[in-house]
Amino acid sequence: MDLGIRGKRALVCASSKGLGLGCAEALAEAGVDLVMNARGADALEAAAQDLRDRFGVRVETHACDVTDEAARAGLIERAAGVEILVTNAGGPPPGLWSDWDREDFIRALDANMLTPIALMKALLPGMMAGGWGRVVNITSQSVKAPIPALGLSNAARTGLTGYVAGTARQVANKGVTINNLLPGIHATDRAVSLDSGVAEAQGISIEEAKTQRAASIPAGRYGTRGEFGAACAFLCSQHAGFIVGQNILLDGGATNMTI
Ligand code: NAP
Repeated sequence: MDLGIRGKRALVCASSKGLGLGCAEALAEAGVDLVMNARGADALEAAAQDLRDRFGVRVETHACDVTDEAARAGLIERAAGVEILVTNAGGPPPGLWSDWDREDFIRALDANMLTPIALMKALLPGMMAGGWGRVVNITSQSVKAPIPALGLSNAARTGLTGYVAGTARQVANKGVTINNLLPGIHATDRAVSLDSGVAEAQGISIEEAKTQRAASIPAGRYGTRGEFGAACAFLCSQHAGFIVGQNILLDGGATNMTI
């Protein structure tokens, strides 16, 4: 399917690896020029060069911590005028409900709620002025069904979800859509780190932790960054203009619910 977005320009945050990279790859395959971001400059440049080589699109890189306000200002300047925004950052650490103090919550809110909101506030006006735009926020299945060990994520991402629900409906009449993609478990470094935590807590190997988790998913396996990126690129396509303010689960059926 031709996604109809060849020649458009996108900012994809936290995209040297994992789900962000999956989104960058799928957009590049659709002919979208990119601004890619991550903290580590070497992995970022390597990922960018790979996409230039494979898809012939223009790829700029901007290495910085997207959750840091001052650093993010430079990224926003670099990305000025983008028609597509994919927000993403690392997820908060796991723990128990009683573990976290105010500073832990502030860090999680900064990374997984206030950063995507700041990016939208900065870049939506340009999209609205141009009469076309697409925003996809990478959140988590934890906004539909809480993950007990990820209380910081449950809290921060639900706040973002509330903001998007209202904002998406205020910008849709300018041709701009905002939607959230909710990953369940995907085979990325983040999954390795979550499985390592389970392995340590239960005294089992990482492979056993992974097999145990995969068995709890109706699809019987982890998702891939390619599948995730394809869903993101579709939401950014010309065909998705009537999909507004939605929260789309990509979890292999793991969240047990009817609607
Ligand atoms: P990942 O494989 O660990 O990749 C994270 C990417 O983000 C890397 O490119 C990393 O590069 C970059 N990054 C991390 N923090 C950053 C920051 N502060 N500023 C800029 N770049 C940053 O993680 P992932 O699995 O793709 O997860 C992406 C998001 O989805 C996370 O918020 C995660 O919690 C959420 N999620 C993932 C899963 C899953 O199963 N994978 C499930 C639910 C939710 P640098 O380290 O060089 O910055």
